[in-house]
Amino acid sequence: MVKYRRLGRTNIEVFPIGFGGIPIQRVSIDEAVKIIRKAIELGINFIDTARAYTDSEIKVGKALEGIDKRIYISSKSQNRTKDGILEDIQTSLKNLSMEKIDIYHIHAVNDKETLKRIFKPDGAYYGLVEAKKRGWIDYIAVSSHINDILEELIKSDKFDVVQVAYNFIETEVEERIFPLALERDIGIIAMKPMGGGSIDNPALSLKYVLQKDFLVPNPGMEKIEEVEKNVKIALELSEITSQEYEEIERIRKEMGKVFCRRCEYCQPCPQGVPISVIVRAKSFVKRIPKENLKNGWFYSAYQKAKNCIKCGVCLPRCPYSLPIPDLIEENLKFLDEYFAN
Ligand code: SF4
Ligand code: SF4
Repeated sequence: MVKYRRLGRTNIEVFPIGFGGIPIQRVSIDEAVKIIRKAIELGINFIDTARAYTDSEIKVGKALEGIDKRIYISSKSQNRTKDGILEDIQTSLKNLSMEKIDIYHIHAVNDKETLKRIFKPDGAYYGLVEAKKRGWIDYIAVSSHINDILEELIKSDKFDVVQVAYNFIETEVEERIFPLALERDIGIIAMKPMGGGSIDNPALSLKYVLQKDFLVPNPGMEKIEEVEKNVKIALELSEITSQEYEEIERIRKEMGKVFCRRCEYCQPCPQGVPISVIVRAKSFVKRIPKENLKNGWFYSAYQKAKNCIKCGVCLPRCPYSLPIPDLIEENLKFLDEYFAN
């Protein structure tokens, strides 16, 4: 018997894992429909997508055509203004072919300036309040990778749901963020439960995250086998064994030296290198189609990274002691080959 998880004050009862909508950008619409329908058939009742995930919303909308089971949908907008986010919600509704979206996030509030902007009278937060009044959305949510910002967002008590990065490498949220959200009965969605595809034991990573039964992880999936595997992990969940803890420690040691937590403490780089994007380049390549990476923000970050002069200014700023200039050099080589082929 599946034990559903309550998503905080929304009272939405969610299957132990949700469906993360980033990787379906890489597959055809027919394939995406099959994968999502398989997830629904196996019990998943929550799908997370975003305006920023190119055609992900459209694929989700298509997959839901003719499905009569109640599936909860969450989407996001990176627009920071009231009018802008209202426009984006209308686009999301159209893409998803829905009249109402259950949960809508302000996407990636990762710096102080954005935090201030969204709470201005013409800011995105008030767009979501208005959208709720108009009946376009049910619950107001926010996502962020930065714990200092998350603390402020949660303490504002303006959100029904928060989406945070959580896996066995990124565990700071366990002490800093979860208690604050739980005190206020805010629902928690755990993004990147497998480290955005970079943890080489994804099953164990998901199992670790699932131990916290007050949250819902939303692993991204682009294959039927992945859906089957992840659902099985959720359904057969048991405690982490001592052997598994040893494996976690081994991976933590190995990856701790290269895993970027996107805290941005290394910034500003005097050469304008978007460090965290380039240090995580392989994870983007795993999840996002090449044609999308070839245009826009990622490609421009790749070009800017070529300006790294290995000055080392960033090195003492990284709390995790990542060898940033070396990682940039290595990833630039990797990207040169990737884009050349
Ligand atoms: S080493 Fe490269 S990335 Fe780091 S601060 Fe210097 S130029 Fe920027
Ligand atoms: S390189 Fe280090 S300081 Fe910079 S974002 Fe990543 S983890 Fe944070």
